[in-house]
Amino acid sequence: MRRVLTGVVAVMGITLGGAWTARSDNRAPKGPDEDGTKPALVKIAGEGMMDSHAFQYLTELSDDIGSRVTGSPAERKAEQWGVAKMKAMGLENVHTEKYQLWRGWTRGTAQAEMLEPIHRPLHVDAMGWTGSTPVGGAEGEVVTANLFDIDEEVKNASRLSGKVVLVVMRGAPRKSGDLLFAIFGDFLKAAGKAGVVAVIGGQAGSKASGMNLTHTGILGFDDDFAVPVVSMTAEDQGQLERYVASGKKVRLRFNVQNTFSNGPVESANVVGEIRGRENPEQVLVVGAHLDSWDLSEATTDDGTGSASVLASAEAILKSGMRPRRTIRFVLFTGEEQGLDGSFAYMKQHHAEMANHLGNLVLDSGQGPVKDFMLGGRDDLVASFRPFAQSLAGIRNIEVNAAVESGMDTLPFSMAGLPGINMNQDSPDYKYTHHSSADALEAVKPEVLAQNATLMALTAYWIADRPERFASPWSAEKTARMLKAHHEDEMLKAFGLWPKEFAEAEKREEASPN
Ligand SMILES: [Zn+2]
Repeated sequence: MRRVLTGVVAVMGITLGGAWTARSDNRAPKGPDEDGTKPALVKIAGEGMMDSHAFQYLTELSDDIGSRVTGSPAERKAEQWGVAKMKAMGLENVHTEKYQLWRGWTRGTAQAEMLEPIHRPLHVDAMGWTGSTPVGGAEGEVVTANLFDIDEEVKNASRLSGKVVLVVMRGAPRKSGDLLFAIFGDFLKAAGKAGVVAVIGGQAGSKASGMNLTHTGILGFDDDFAVPVVSMTAEDQGQLERYVASGKKVRLRFNVQNTFSNGPVESANVVGEIRGRENPEQVLVVGAHLDSWDLSEATTDDGTGSASVLASAEAILKSGMRPRRTIRFVLFTGEEQGLDGSFAYMKQHHAEMANHLGNLVLDSGQGPVKDFMLGGRDDLVASFRPFAQSLAGIRNIEVNAAVESGMDTLPFSMAGLPGINMNQDSPDYKYTHHSSADALEAVKPEVLAQNATLMALTAYWIADRPERFASPWSAEKTARMLKAHHEDEMLKAFGLWPKEFAEAEKREEASPN
């Protein structure tokens, strides 16, 4: 879901990427050359690079299924497609795992028109899980609300009654982008109560990127808003901002119609496995999200990841090699509404968590993989490096311990496991992300095939190396790690900080060591 305030709010949290602790016993960690995994990896690389179906899968998902909003008929079709692909390539134990999303949502129409000071249509699209204007539309005068002063705006929301709210960013942010995102949700609730006509404010209240593009998205974790909220193109929004700044009266008319379901809707993760030959009970999850937004065919978010998961499974299967431990391939859904599919997975597999090794996720758009972010597990960086170095003939990839909290890696990091993000170098992702430009044109087949192969190699190496890669950390240690990475503020603001972490914090405060 990637809570972006693109290019405006610098990430204020520091990553502990470079800081890794050397092993006390001075034994150099073993890479594929020393740990016996190399012959299998060579076969897998050959299959992945020379006989890849990754782009074919991506084309089918993009063109034949298209957008796939969680809980929608198209998303159900994508689940069936995922099951069929997994079965056809020969994965074991292929099935879906159902869960409930708190509420479903269907986009209707979104029209906006400037009435004063000039008359012209404006380009807008509704943000996900937001409401509607009265049937036939409503009009109002534009007033601004400052995202960087959002606490005050929440308190003074009554002044917005009957107005169109234009979210602006004035001055400097005093809070992290994640916290602003959390409080923005409170603001939207207050604005809804105050009876505003509509709110102009995109992802986390930010302005759109790219030429004439809107970017939809959710505005919280599992949260919906009665007020209509729209993303407007940067060009149209810029004009409104200039009018308002020069004191001109601006009047807009909106007609936005969306539909919520009456109750929860069903969705499902798609699961298939390569069972381990020695320790099948130990599981590495390899995942991406199958669900998407709906302004396009959703190729780069996260068709690329979904195609990589399938193609990585296929490369391993065709190599004929079976890893020591189980690799479980999961196409998550509900990611865009708040990582619902991966959180549901953690609940459904709670009893198995002690046997998990972590998860590996690709969900950063269309570019080549550039770093392995080990999701807070700084203890694993040293053992991972020799593996990453063994890939240098394919690509130089950095290793760090940074946490990615806007992806399906987060629930695993919160379980004290390495939620590994295969972070990509995707400069154009800010344009394709949740926009109408997210189409097959944005993807280079050779980059996709290479990413899928890297995913296969990483998964196989983790699952097959003689030493177990990782075991879950305790709640104490995990909570401490998340605090060190400044993820606690956001998790608390969204009510996602678990009871065990709060208790661990209390114990720590009572007896600091
Ligand atoms: Zn995504």
